[in-house]
Amino acid sequence: MRKHIVAGNWKMNNGLIQTKTLITELKQQKKTSDAEVMIAPAFTNLWPAFEETRQFPIEVVAQNMHFAEDGAYTGEISAGMLKSIGIQSVILGHSERRAYFNETDEALAKKINTALEHDMRVIFCFGEELSDRKSGHHESVVERQIKNALFHLEASAFKNIVLAYEPVWAIGTGETATPEQAQDMHAFIRKTLSDKYGSDTSNSVSILYGGSVKPNNAKEIFSKPDVDGGLIGGASLKASDFFAIVNAF
Ligand code: PEP
Repeated sequence: MRKHIVAGNWKMNNGLIQTKTLITELKQQKKTSDAEVMIAPAFTNLWPAFEETRQFPIEVVAQNMHFAEDGAYTGEISAGMLKSIGIQSVILGHSERRAYFNETDEALAKKINTALEHDMRVIFCFGEELSDRKSGHHESVVERQIKNALFHLEASAFKNIVLAYEPVWAIGTGETATPEQAQDMHAFIRKTLSDKYGSDTSNSVSILYGGSVKPNNAKEIFSKPDVDGGLIGGASLKASDFFAIVNAF
């Protein structure tokens, strides 16, 4: 059975004190679902967050990393650095990274390779712009993003890959894809994987939906057969909202 996963992307929010406070509040929440829980604080708070969640079923993951092992890349963080403080998973390809930091599918393919070489789990994000959906090109855009970043991999690599479909028009906008739009796209993604790698691989990969998931819409979105969880932005910054989403499974 595929894993259910709910991951909170904190983006560039929360200093040290707020990070510790939010984690204390998260630890007080009651978990009633089988979903794996992840949180992605900013780089400076990964270590304190890791320490605060030891012995607790919340995985601390990074929001990004560089593809190089080390060297003259001022301001960047490597996979080895993340691993050295116990971080096992990394979000790659978030639409904000693509839009504001010019991350291309080609650069993302390199980052994915590096993360996998370090035995890290990758939460790979992709999704279409509003104009793509309006013009009916949403499937071809998503197919291209997946092929460019992932299709050089062997099938066995997918045990360390989680996919996150995040339509750009739904991120931080309050506008959510309908559960049917999410299901249709997730089924398309699974078929795209199946055509290349076969159904055993495609059926084993968790596909998360991201884009204005809130406590009041999570249950309906998560009820769809190909939706295996969520990547949550705004609602992950409030412990009770985040756990209402975690417990929507
Ligand atoms: C995100 O940043 O990945 C996201 C889905 O944000 P929000 O939930 O705020 O739309």
